[in-house]
Amino acid sequence: MENTQNTTIETTVPILKLPPSILRRRNALSNSKWSIIVSSDLHFGEDPQKSVIRRVKLNHLDQILRIKDTHKVQMVISAGDLTSHGTAGESGCLCWKPYGGDELTELREQWVDPIERTGIKLLMCPGNHDMYTGTLKHPVLKYLCRRRNAPFHPFLKTYRSGRYTYKHNGVLFISLGMYPGPSNLKFLKSVLSENKDVPVIIFYHYNTISTEKYSDWWKESEKDAFYEAIAGYNNIIAIINGHIHTSSVKKWRGFTMINGGGADMVRIEMDGDKFVKAVLHSVP
Ligand SMILES: [Zn+2]
Repeated sequence: MENTQNTTIETTVPILKLPPSILRRRNALSNSKWSIIVSSDLHFGEDPQKSVIRRVKLNHLDQILRIKDTHKVQMVISAGDLTSHGTAGESGCLCWKPYGGDELTELREQWVDPIERTGIKLLMCPGNHDMYTGTLKHPVLKYLCRRRNAPFHPFLKTYRSGRYTYKHNGVLFISLGMYPGPSNLKFLKSVLSENKDVPVIIFYHYNTISTEKYSDWWKESEKDAFYEAIAGYNNIIAIINGHIHTSSVKKWRGFTMINGGGADMVRIEMDGDKFVKAVLHSVP
């Protein structure tokens, strides 16, 4: 009995005697883990009965809400093709197919609002499908750009739209819109040169790895120029894409390349501003 009491006292007293500054540091360390979820190519507007990609994305919202506390999810990144035609209920039709749906409202009510209501940050960039509307208004593209005060080019060279930066937990997130074309590359170079000591995550829609399907939507020479722009920086901790409907974590020319366009979400585990790992997260 005496031994038990002594043991209790010996383990309790030293902890209580810890100075407040160390206790605060211990708490800060235990609270520094957090997660980013990557889920792209949501294709709102498609009928889940007919569209495989819309069907496999149906449970992603519920899954994010379910794991948000256990994995301390603080951010979701959706890298383009958030809607299938970029419409917002306006009259008109696509060149190849009549469509009068309101995909923007679906995107807002079934993705943006429920995620942001929980306090989770949501970063999005446009994909090619978000610009397929039959009118020149490009309401989804406009919405995505206005949300983050990004440039919006509805008439010509729409691919220059949607670039912006966002900082969270000491990490700088850089959206390059559809892909790192010439004007977006100029923007990237400027941002990187001013943030050499800051951990950076870059995201854009088109996939990059040349052996993958659909990676030829931008030229090899443009990929070389992108690589040249980032090659000298060891603070780029991940690059995120969509466009291909397969989720993966791979390497591209030494950089961690993440795609969340498929049935699996990708969960990036962070410790403060440090990248720990990126893992595929199956969605039942
Ligand atoms: Zn696409």
